[in-house]
Amino acid sequence: MKITDVRWTPVFIPIEAPLRYAFGSHPGFSRIVVEVHTDEGLIGLGECYGGASREGQLAELRPLLIGEDPFQLERIRWKLAAPSALKLFGYVLGFAALEFACLDLQGKALGKPVCDLIGGKMRNEIPFAGYLFYRYANDKGAGEVSNSTQMVAFAKQLVEQYGFATLKYKNGVLPPDEEIETFIALREAFPKLKIRLDPNAAWSVTTAIRVARKLHDYDLEYLEDPVWGMRAMGRVNAKAPWVTLASNMSVFAFEDLVPNVVMDVLDVVLLDPHWYGGITRAKLAGQICEAMGVDIGMHSGAEFGISQAAMLHLAAALPNLTVAPDSHYHHLTDDIIDGGKLQYHDGKMAVPTGPGLGVTLDRDKLAKYHELAKQQQMGSWIEDSRRPGMIICQPKW
Ligand SMILES: [Mg+2]
Repeated sequence: MKITDVRWTPVFIPIEAPLRYAFGSHPGFSRIVVEVHTDEGLIGLGECYGGASREGQLAELRPLLIGEDPFQLERIRWKLAAPSALKLFGYVLGFAALEFACLDLQGKALGKPVCDLIGGKMRNEIPFAGYLFYRYANDKGAGEVSNSTQMVAFAKQLVEQYGFATLKYKNGVLPPDEEIETFIALREAFPKLKIRLDPNAAWSVTTAIRVARKLHDYDLEYLEDPVWGMRAMGRVNAKAPWVTLASNMSVFAFEDLVPNVVMDVLDVVLLDPHWYGGITRAKLAGQICEAMGVDIGMHSGAEFGISQAAMLHLAAALPNLTVAPDSHYHHLTDDIIDGGKLQYHDGKMAVPTGPGLGVTLDRDKLAKYHELAKQQQMGSWIEDSRRPGMIICQPKW
């Protein structure tokens, strides 16, 4: 089988209400759907973050992939995405989408799901964390989450609707004292649920240690990226040793795994098949963590159905995945895959069983949301349209 073409389509899907985080807000989710064509008529699907820079990566990688056999993944990696090329030229996200598509092609050619190609399935369904964000009101004036009462009500609605057993509370939006108060309110409202915090490195070491001290007796599952950089994370670990620290910002690439252990920085590495350069590479990173006695979880970057399927196959094949992966998926109002959105049952999502990634494109919806992408003034991840001109320092507090 030989690859004959690579095509991509930017898509924008609206969400219930704009999500806020430390450095901006998201009016909806922008992604790029990638299709890799072959001389045998099979089409492999991939997906990555939206935006002009990702389209540029795909345009640069496209001619290098044409003519290759999608089964020769190691050769393709060294041709398109050697470690230095990933780091120096920033190809990692575009390459990951192409790797998903190659695995999808392998599975389709063999009639096997992707999880069977990367070691096999250790579980049939994956529990996810319900992702709690502060939100602006939507165009209809609904959906605002700006205080403790609204956040607890939002969490109750999500737990009732989807059955989540873990909650992830996005921090770094309001002053830390208000967010501490809201964490305690969530803890009291959900005494049996696991609850994690993530301020996206918006805090100073001093603030992070203070928050850790205040939440000492409130059963925090883990504190994710309270501060920026391994040195600062290591200081929080040293001075608040009772807190489990997790990261997808200070530790997010192969090169970070060894320094994390040598410098005794943190205990939960949040993998992401996009940021580690594909499903197979994220699987390897998970196994390296297993060997080094580091726990793993999974980061979410606002995936649609193709990337969500990639995460499900990866999660199914990682025996040491002990914490519920994050997912933005429940915020989406629709998806571009056949059959509509993937469904939750008791907070879990089934691993697709069809060949390859196990999802197929709904062409009508792809066209519909591509039109929205064209209309959308593609903002960056670090922009807040409600607060134009805003500049946020790191640390913010
Ligand atoms: Mg994070």
